[in-house]
Amino acid sequence: MQGNLNVQTENIFPVIKKFLYSDHEIFLRELVSNAVDATQKLKAISSRGELKGELGDLTVEVVLDSKKKTLTIKDRGIGMTAEEVEKYINQIAFSGATDFLDKYKDVQENLIGHFGLGFYSAFMVADKVEIFSKSYKEAPAVHWSCDGSPSFEMVEDPSHTDRGTSIVLHIADDCKEFLEEQEILQLLRKYCRFMPIAIRCGEESVWVDSETEFDEVDDGNGGKKKQPKRVEKKHPRIINDTEPAWRKSPSSLTDEDYKKFYHQLYPMNFEDPLFQIHLNVDYPFNLTGILYFPKVRKTIDPTRNKIQLYCNQVFVTDSVEGIVPEYLMLLHGVLDSPDIPLNVSRSYLQSDSNVKKISSHISKKVADKLEEMFKNDRKDFENKWDDIKIFIEYGMLTEEKFCERAMKFTLLKNTQGEFYSLKDYRDKIAPLQTDKDKNVCYLYANDLEEQHAYIAKAKEKGYDVLLMDSVLTPHFVNLLEQKIDKTRFVRVDADTVEKLIPHDDKIPEKLTQEQKDKLKPIIEGEVDTQKYTVLMESLESDDQPMLITQSEFMRRYKEMQATSGGGMGFYGEMPESYNLVVNVNHPLIEQVLNETDGEKQKQLVHQLTDLALLANGLLKGEALTEFVKRSVSMIK
Ligand code: ADP
Repeated sequence: MQGNLNVQTENIFPVIKKFLYSDHEIFLRELVSNAVDATQKLKAISSRGELKGELGDLTVEVVLDSKKKTLTIKDRGIGMTAEEVEKYINQIAFSGATDFLDKYKDVQENLIGHFGLGFYSAFMVADKVEIFSKSYKEAPAVHWSCDGSPSFEMVEDPSHTDRGTSIVLHIADDCKEFLEEQEILQLLRKYCRFMPIAIRCGEESVWVDSETEFDEVDDGNGGKKKQPKRVEKKHPRIINDTEPAWRKSPSSLTDEDYKKFYHQLYPMNFEDPLFQIHLNVDYPFNLTGILYFPKVRKTIDPTRNKIQLYCNQVFVTDSVEGIVPEYLMLLHGVLDSPDIPLNVSRSYLQSDSNVKKISSHISKKVADKLEEMFKNDRKDFENKWDDIKIFIEYGMLTEEKFCERAMKFTLLKNTQGEFYSLKDYRDKIAPLQTDKDKNVCYLYANDLEEQHAYIAKAKEKGYDVLLMDSVLTPHFVNLLEQKIDKTRFVRVDADTVEKLIPHDDKIPEKLTQEQKDKLKPIIEGEVDTQKYTVLMESLESDDQPMLITQSEFMRRYKEMQATSGGGMGFYGEMPESYNLVVNVNHPLIEQVLNETDGEKQKQLVHQLTDLALLANGLLKGEALTEFVKRSVSMIK
């Protein structure tokens, strides 16, 4: 029989080729998954007792013939009768292809690479395709062939007696790479690694002890003994794991099994994951998968070890934007769902109701798991905290629901390395760290070395200081201030220790207003007043004579602008500015005031400001050299 394919467009093949150029490797996935489907259908028929004869070996085979320039995908599944080829290949499949092309005529964005084009994607790489098929039903075998024009040939083929289907691709000259075994293996491992029916491609060799050949070797007692020769043995190369861990029931898996699967998934990653979440939902959508929390390094490479998306064990993509909540994008693992629409654009995907449900389900499961860890093994949770806090902080900042849940299990860590829940920490610090307006003040540092002096001062007062050193800290403390009533976060270097947590009691001032008015311009004369605002304050007389602080508000907003990306806003453009706090109760300040020699007075002020800058790591370059010189001359 000869006929024309049911196509409107005369030259559809060039169109297919051009359209799908960037992604034409997916033809192999399409054909192998058809073969796997046909095999699973046969198994189902057999299990219902409707199959005459034996199932036999059901392995799908991918065979390369470099002489004939063919690539064959062969299965022993249900096969097709001539009528079925007519129905599924000649008519239906093609209308699918034209629909597809119609729909995407104007779409400029990169097609995701899975569009159910199915069988016809073979023409992306072949200039002629043949089908040999014999149905499991009583019917003669059929041979179909098509050379890429819209006409095809279909004949009965009594020579083909094996049940199942072989698809033979005559690889086009410009696609020769698909005749190379390494290339095909790589594609099979990418797309078919977890398909549910065994897939064979070629052979691989293993070295084993021979049963028939022996070597003579020394037996250690001066004699000889026989030892089996090591011989190379070829055996079929199976490229897939038909029962990947995510398809198994969580109760049947140990922690070791999960780790093993992780390394199977990412053979190039040698580090164990921290823990995992096994997803298993039937209703109202179908979703299975395992998400792993990796150890987060200072620099995370988001292009490696990405979450892989599967559809019934067929690899689809490793770009899961829109499906996985943003804060979890850096997790590792697999998701498998037939309910994620694949042939749509990204922007459409995000508005799909199933996808939304899946995304919020994942978020909920992550919160469940974290809460369970927090409750059941607090010590272990604390040990993992530094690696997972970035996910939790980011999640709290971006997902309202997750934030509500996380308020219960998020931890704060202080500079001694002790962990507290939000509630416990508040209870701990409230007695000493409540200011005159009834705000509980949380003190934090982001650098133990640099802020050492400030931390020490705060501790002297009996205050507790948190260590908050993540890139998200400025945003995160803002969030906590909004979420927890009567809460203020202040970095330890934001003010003098007295003012960090303002109480009503004031330290008596040693200088009169008049004396202060006289002192201020003297000091201002020696510093860059664009950058430093001189403030006269009464601190303890054994405090530093001068110190540098930076307003919490200004600093935090500048930092937030910087990490929010995009253009710098109003605060971002403000120059760095600091306060130079002068402790009017310090004897040295009194000495400055009373110094009658102008030069000496200048030198003293200079020395004191430099010391304050030095304590803050702000004295650099020429100024630092000058300071050292001056100090030496003063010692002399
Ligand atoms: P899809 O797989 O999305 O249905 P295809 O174009 O890949 O679209 O295939 C169309 C139909 O052809 C399939 O639904 C199936 O009925 C039939 N078919 C394709 N390949 C095989 C095969 N290897 N064995 C049996 N039937 C097949």
